[in-house]
Amino acid sequence: METQTAPPPEPSQEFPVRGFGQRAAGQGRRVYVAAVLALTEPGPAGAGIVVTDERGRVLAQRSSYLGQARRDEATAQALLLAMRLSHASGLESPTFLVDDPRLSQAMGGTGEWPQHVAGWRPALEQASQQLGRHAVEAISTGANQARSLALAPLVEWLPERTRRAGELAVRDLGGGEYEVQSESHPDQSYHVTFRVPGQDGDGEVIACECADFLYRGIPCKHLLAVARRHGGMERLFVGRAGAQ
Ligand SMILES: [Zn+2]
Repeated sequence: METQTAPPPEPSQEFPVRGFGQRAAGQGRRVYVAAVLALTEPGPAGAGIVVTDERGRVLAQRSSYLGQARRDEATAQALLLAMRLSHASGLESPTFLVDDPRLSQAMGGTGEWPQHVAGWRPALEQASQQLGRHAVEAISTGANQARSLALAPLVEWLPERTRRAGELAVRDLGGGEYEVQSESHPDQSYHVTFRVPGQDGDGEVIACECADFLYRGIPCKHLLAVARRHGGMERLFVGRAGAQ
């Protein structure tokens, strides 16, 4: 039996508006905004924000834990945070880059507000007015520099024992199947599935037999141990619109 973990921290209703820092102030900044969920949707969500100048030099970075959310809601929350921080930090005419085209269209008045995001509309419109001149544009997930940053609070949120995953022995059984040593009973092991879709055959893509995975729906230490050893950490997190 695994020991009980503390519940995840409550999402903060009011974002702390601590600025990006003096370097970020000025004209024409590009503000990359990303949200990533852990394993399930809705699930624990993290936000990442990267501010660059016109030449792509990074001036400021922020990440924040958002609480439980759907992916589109989390992106809206991340954008709200980015707008408030930009206002507080003296950014002039910034361009916000999000990898959710429906959100950028809703913000620009050229598309409907997605159902789950509508609740964030008043706050976004208020932040938008405070900020003055700015733009919200859509970019591809691959071009979103803030995405890896959004993972950071989720990895921190995972139970302490999960982060110790690097020490567990992993045996590669082939075809995306692994055996990972149990931490509490080193003579026992958990069967883990971590397939590359389209490469390792059909069936479950991600699975483990432990309680963290089965009952709590979080990336467990066994999956993390496999991902650390063989790569693919980003597949444990949901970061693309429409990804399951
Ligand atoms: Zn597990």
